[in-house]
Amino acid sequence: MSVIGLGAVAREFRKPLSLEQVDFADPKDGEVLVQIRATGVCHTDIHAIDGDWPVKAMLPFIPGHEGVGVVAKTGRLVRGVKEGDRVGLPWLRATCGECEWCLMGWESLCPRASYGGYSANGSFAEYALAPAAYVGHIPACLSDAEAAPILCAGLTSWKALKETEATAGQWVAISGVGGLGQLAIQYAVHMGLHVIAVDIDPQKLWRAKDLGAEITLDAKEQDVAQLVQSQVGGAHGVVVTAVSATAFHQAIGMTRRKGTCVFVGLPPGDFPAPIFDVVMKGLTIRGSLVGTREDLHEALALCAETTIRSPITTQPLLTVNDALDRLRAGQAEGRIVLTM
Ligand code: NAD
Ligand code: ZN
Ligand code: ZN
Repeated sequence: MSVIGLGAVAREFRKPLSLEQVDFADPKDGEVLVQIRATGVCHTDIHAIDGDWPVKAMLPFIPGHEGVGVVAKTGRLVRGVKEGDRVGLPWLRATCGECEWCLMGWESLCPRASYGGYSANGSFAEYALAPAAYVGHIPACLSDAEAAPILCAGLTSWKALKETEATAGQWVAISGVGGLGQLAIQYAVHMGLHVIAVDIDPQKLWRAKDLGAEITLDAKEQDVAQLVQSQVGGAHGVVVTAVSATAFHQAIGMTRRKGTCVFVGLPPGDFPAPIFDVVMKGLTIRGSLVGTREDLHEALALCAETTIRSPITTQPLLTVNDALDRLRAGQAEGRIVLTM
């Protein structure tokens, strides 16, 4: 028997989500039906709803990929998860398990992957279906709302920091101190890295200081590339979570000789990369997309063992359109987490 519950459905791009009663089917083989209790709002949800990217989500769909809830039903052939377990539904909803990238431990790059809240219905709803093998297992000491942002913002920033290859005692610059950046700063401090935080919003920079950034720079008011080079000789690692193409150009300028600049933010468009600087400084520029199930396990475990937490504000699912408007306008202070 299917269950009926509230869901926030994208029916047209760039329009408010429609709050509807949705029929959630029984889980198929290998799937679980999760009763969602909390779900973070990621800037990716806005790109999805606005149809920002070359490959668009298929309308209609339910966005959301930071859902935390309790398993309400299990399909046949489900292992490792049972009714009543608390689980998280990440962006990487399923992969093929057979391709070159799945086999070499890079399942997050699987070309046949499906994405929760994009190519399949996500967690802006009272229920969501997910393949049991891909759900995250939530440590008991994290509340639903604390765990939700780790499913994407935490996982993605943890993986991106590893991808910078920066080691303890080195400098890392985090460009964009929103949902992802605020967690990236804390993971970086935990890794023993010195942190430079860059944003265009002075309030975000104050928060960055509180979270452990030693240097904060305003990309609107200051020449951030010149300052990072003159103050620390360039950052060994740079992680760009900013939702602005300009920030990507600046990030290359902040990178130290032989350093690595990791692109995470996904604003639409292109930017000019200075060929001369990339060659002469031996820079590595790489993209980073969420992370594997193992990366997620690490990101959650680190939160459970430390005080790393996303600063959150909670509000009911019914106010999802208000949450999206505030995030779009850059007015969300920390991660907004919708509760049911
Ligand atoms: P957010 O809106 O919470 O944060 C974005 C931050 O960027 C804000 O603090 C904003 O003030 C800042 N910013 C804007 N312009 C800037 C500039 N020129 N320089 C420095 N900072 C600037 O968004 P979020 O949820 O943290 O997501 C950030 C981006 O990361 C989005 O594009 C999202 O789609 C993307 N994302 C990518 C992945 C991935 O796997 N690669 C995963 C999650 C999110
Ligand atoms: Zn996300
Ligand atoms: Zn694959």
